[in-house]
Amino acid sequence: MIIVMQAGATKDQIQQVEETLISLGFKTHPIYGEVKTVIGAIGDKRLLNTQLISTLPGVEDIVPIMKPYKLVSKELKQTKTTIQIEDITIGGREIVIMAGPCAVENEQVFYETARQVKAAGAKILRGGAYKPRTSPYSFQGLEEEGLKMLATARQETGLKIVTEVVDTRDVETVAKYADILQIGARNMQNFRLLKEAGASGKPILLKRGLSATIEEWLMAAEYIISSGNPNIMLCERGIRTFETATRNTIDISAIPVVQELSHLPIIVDPSHATGTWKYVDPLAKAAVAAGADGLLIEVHNDPARALCDGPQSLRPDKFAQLVEELKAVAAAVDRKI
Ligand code: PEP
Ligand code: MN
Repeated sequence: MIIVMQAGATKDQIQQVEETLISLGFKTHPIYGEVKTVIGAIGDKRLLNTQLISTLPGVEDIVPIMKPYKLVSKELKQTKTTIQIEDITIGGREIVIMAGPCAVENEQVFYETARQVKAAGAKILRGGAYKPRTSPYSFQGLEEEGLKMLATARQETGLKIVTEVVDTRDVETVAKYADILQIGARNMQNFRLLKEAGASGKPILLKRGLSATIEEWLMAAEYIISSGNPNIMLCERGIRTFETATRNTIDISAIPVVQELSHLPIIVDPSHATGTWKYVDPLAKAAVAAGADGLLIEVHNDPARALCDGPQSLRPDKFAQLVEELKAVAAAVDRKI
């Protein structure tokens, strides 16, 4: 339910509505607009005494939220969420580029790649220290040693860090080093992990599950936001379809659909979506043209020797050229890079 307060409702009136809702067993999420305040009331709607609430001073209307996801929905909040990480705004006019290798492999290669992606215009450095690999025999990541390399790269370049957390037991450690916690596609419905990562207070990059519908994806985001963390960016990274020519099928339509349904920013990962470096360039451009708020791109300075996802990684020079070319696409849709 959404309790719409009258324009000019006082702080005390808002507080009284919140206290009443809480006494009825609801959780409240006030959103202070420029003109009006609305209060999201999450709980069992059978317990909502609408007569009581509607007669409280300052209440204008009570509107049901029809979608199963509530706090992430546009029904509750029409203005877009922006996520501030020091001087970086995600979800604003600027399209934020996140780039780096699939995995943190070794110091030298990693620091060199970090410098190169920074020079090309990336604002956020990616690199997995805990890798969710399909095979238990594949490289699994350097774990905390890798996190330390990420932290050193941040110190040296000023880039912010996004890295994946795969297990609830690692949330605290990863949150100690990272600026953004990534929840991978395979863990999109690991609800304990969603809640604990959310409770860390760090911004979350939530990848879409391999076979998840947009509604399931938004429900996963609802787990994070309901743990008290509104700083969520959704990440489209391709879904499973009958097509085998690419690793996954990029769902470009997810961008406008998500923007219609939710106020959360959306990032696109054309690397995992295609699995082939050659297709990353056209699909990164398509994503920006369709309204993405950011891109997550795998970059490696020796893809042939990469321990993970080499075939889909761009070389730094190709990445730099792509960022240059993306500027015109961004300008065409009134955004900037
Ligand atoms: C990754 O970002 O390296 C990764 C494993 O992504 P996904 O969860 O989308 O497969
Ligand atoms: Mn990868």
